[in-house]
Order: sequence, then structure tokens, then C-alpha cells
Amino acid sequence: MSSGARFRVAVLGAGASGLLAAHYLKAQIPGIELTVHEERERPGGLIDTLVHDGHVFEWGARCLRAKARAGVCFDLVGELGLGPEVAAGGPEQNLRYILRRGRLLQVPAGPFSALFSPFARLLPGALLRDLRHPAGPRQDTSVAEFAERHFGPGARDLIFDPLMSGIYAGDMRTLSFKACLSALAGFEERHGSVLRGALRERPGRLGEGGAKLPPAPRLFSFRGGMRRFIEALAARLGTALRLGSKVTALEPCADGYRVRANGGATEFDAVICALPAPAAAALIRPSNAALAGGLAALPYAPLAVIPVLFPEPVNRYRGAGYLVPSTEGEAILGAQWNTQSFPALSSGKGQGFTIMVGGARGASLLNGGENALQNSALAALRRHLGISAAPSFMACRIIARALPQYHVGHLDTVRRLRALAPPRFHLAGNYLEGVGIGDLALQAKALALQLKDEASLVGARDCSLKGTA
Ligand SMILES: Cc1cc2nc3c(=O)[nH]c(=O)nc-3n(C[C@H](O)[C@H](O)[C@H](O)COP(=O)(O)OP(=O)(O)OC[C@H]3O[C@@H](n4cnc5c(N)ncnc54)[C@H](O)[C@@H]3O)c2cc1C
Repeated sequence: MSSGARFRVAVLGAGASGLLAAHYLKAQIPGIELTVHEERERPGGLIDTLVHDGHVFEWGARCLRAKARAGVCFDLVGELGLGPEVAAGGPEQNLRYILRRGRLLQVPAGPFSALFSPFARLLPGALLRDLRHPAGPRQDTSVAEFAERHFGPGARDLIFDPLMSGIYAGDMRTLSFKACLSALAGFEERHGSVLRGALRERPGRLGEGGAKLPPAPRLFSFRGGMRRFIEALAARLGTALRLGSKVTALEPCADGYRVRANGGATEFDAVICALPAPAAAALIRPSNAALAGGLAALPYAPLAVIPVLFPEPVNRYRGAGYLVPSTEGEAILGAQWNTQSFPALSSGKGQGFTIMVGGARGASLLNGGENALQNSALAALRRHLGISAAPSFMACRIIARALPQYHVGHLDTVRRLRALAPPRFHLAGNYLEGVGIGDLALQAKALALQLKDEASLVGARDCSLKGTA
């Protein structure tokens, strides 16, 4: 960056990670020269809405959590002027179920409250076991080992197994408890008992900087679906967002990096690489084989997302959906009950569901083709909910790399990757420190602050170079 020139930043990828990074960069660095390259013709990456007959379905993220990460998502609503478009989760949003021996068992949200509910009667000894657990730091282990040492094998299989497939499409036997259950890991270290820790450190209603969070729905989306969130982020970028612009090479150069996309090459002072890990690996490989190797080795789980619409109300259960523990040996991971959890996102006629299939443990189920997948998923949903009616609409999307898998040791892996990143090249994405949009927003905010420092340092360096010339 020459003295007086603007700080030039390229953001690679316009999924949630890239768009959020661009959003906060614009806020932190006035006058920044920003370019966001996205290979597809639409922004949003995994976030993509399907509207059928007035019913909103999501292929990726379905909603935001108001309190996640100190209310960062709720703050975004205001920053993006989306307040009037918020679609709050309905009164049934907190009612969820787990399939047990083929029947739906109602559970409260979250593993702690589950242990205090009627559900707990199924888990004798779990409470005692946890309360006796000694405090202190622990080596990272799998979520399965963590769950067993605190609550025993019953809770492990009934609660933690479906929870991990619900959040990460993952296998609790390989997922890291420190990366996937970071709050619980903290409770264990400080209090021994996870339940005691949860009670003593109950989150208040304080937001960032101690400010009280405004009353908000627990979960929310937008009229028109999550697409509106993406459109609002993209709209703020204007011509800085280049769609259909696949980045094909990234070359270090004197002042920073040269980005090659669409047959052109442009130089930037800094780069935020918000691509999925394999795409990031391919770009960085020629200049940094070690970082590329680390990125390429990160595992992902595949998912099939299957929206289903019935022309009439068919579900006799109230609630937002259910998860299926792997011990049930079923073809599906669970289903969200769209119309019931977000009544504002349906036409008022019929009932919509989204079934999930695959994940780390069921990847082979995705090999039989979309028709077979849809048939077996529909059969499972009807059996579990006792539905005899036929759907009026069904679709399917197979996402080969739906969710990154934070295996045991993941936090060390992330530290290594960050240490390997060259100056002014920043990694962003859901394969680092959280898959939720709140996690990605927090990551993007931190990056924007880091780049603000870099911008001032680069400016100072150029001035001092000029002074000594
Ligand atoms: C089924 C499902 C349900 C989910 N539900 C929720 C939920 O309810 N709430 C929640 O908070 N989170 C949810 N998530 C997680 C969340 O959606 C993702 O973690 C998040 O959207 C990932 O965003 P990203 O930007 O990191 O990656 P991506 O969305 O994968 O974005 C990466 C972008 O990079 C682009 N790209 C790739 N290569 C290049 C290249 N060479 N040049 C230019 N561009 C390139 C891609 O086209 C893409 O747009 C869900 C995820 C899935 C799969």
C-alpha cells in the first residue's frame, strides 16, 4: 500500500464467513478497498433458500440463535436493517423429541435440562456420576468418552449421540469434546461436574460490553427465509461483490498478494480466505505446502437435505422436530418440522418438514441415488410420526461437504494452521472454531479488528519508508 492509498483487501468466498468478514471490515476500516470473489452466481454458499407454494425450506442454515455468542446475530439484524423482516420461531420451537425404540420421546432443549426432565428417569445414576466428577484440566478426548465419564453410557447414546449428529452431522466417537462442547469442557475443568458448572455459570442476559440484550425470540429467521440475511449482507457490498468470479491462483507479491480470478490479476495488501478448507488448500499449495497439507486433511461429513410438503396438517405431535440416535439403526438423522417451528414461514396450508440423511456415520446411505434416498427418508418420517398421507412436494440436495468434523485434537490443529499462515493472509470458515452463524460472525469481527491493526501498521510502514528514502 503506498502512502495515502487505500488498504486493499480481497475476501475469497461469499458464504456466511466471507460476507460477514466483509461486513465488519467495512465497519472497522473506513475507506477500505474491498473485493469479494465468489465463484458461484449467487452469494451465500451453504445458505440457500427454497420457496415452494408459500412454504420456506432451507438447504443449509435454517435460523439464527438470538443469544449465540453474546447476541452477535441479534446485533446483525439491527446493523442490516432487517428488524421488520424477522420471522420468530413459534411457540413450539422449544419442544423437541428423540426417537427411542421407534417412538418419539419429548426432551427439553440442551443436555443439562434434559437431565432434569422426565427424561432423566431413563438415566439413573447419570446425575450422581457427574456430580462426583473431579475438577481439573483434561486431555482432549472424544465426545463419547466425555459423555460417558460424566453421565454414563445411557445418556451418551440417548443425548450426546443425536446431539452431535444434529449439530455436526458427526460421530460422537471421533468428535473432540473440547472443540464441540467447549462450554461443557470449561465446566468440567473449573467445577468437575458439568451440571454444577452449568448452574453456577448460568448465562445472564448480558450482551457484549455488559449491555442487556433486548427481548428476542430464541430462534429466528426472516420473511423469505435465510436468503434475506444473505441478500442484505450482499447488498451492502455493492460492486465490491464479484459473483461468478472463481479465484484460481494466489501469489505472494511485494506488497501483499496477487489474486487471479476470471482471467485478471489484482494485487491486495491482505487476503481473507473464506473458502471451504479443500478449496483454500488448493490455492495456497504452491506457496505454502505445509498449510495446504493441513487444510486438505480436515475431514467433512456429507448430508442429504430432503424437504417434504404435505397438503394438509399431518403431524399429531407438537414441536419443532426430532433426532434419531444411531442405536436406532434408522435411515435418517432426524427431521425439522418447518411449519410448526416457524409458522410465519409457511402459507398456512399444509405442513412442511426437512429430513436429514447421511452424516459422518451414514455417508454410504447417500450412494444409492436421490430417488432411493427420498423414498427411504419419507418412509422413515411417516413411520415415526404415524403419517399415512402422501406428500405434495419433495426435493433432495446432496451436499458432499456439508459440515466440517472437529476430530479429537482439533483445537491444536487450528492453532497449527493459524501459525502456518503467512503474514496478512487470514483463514476464515466453519472448519475453524464453530459452525454456527454466530461463531462465524464472531470470527469475522475479530478478523476485522486484526486487519484494522494491519492497515494502520502498513500505513505507518509506508510513511516511514518514504521518510527514509
Ligand atoms: C444442512 C445444514 C444446516 C445448517 N443449519 C444451521 C443453522 O440452522 N444455524 C446456523 O447458524 N448454522 C447452520 N449450519 C451451518 C452454517 O450454515 C455453515 O457453517 C455456514 O453457512 C458456512 O459458511 P462458510 O462461509 O464458512 O462456507 P460456505 O457456505 O461453504 O462458503 C464458501 C464459499 O466459497 C465459495 N468458493 C469456493 N471455492 C471458491 C473459489 N475458488 N473462488 C471463489 N469462491 C469460491 C463457495 O462457492 C461458497 O460460496 C447448517 C449447515 C448445514 C449444512
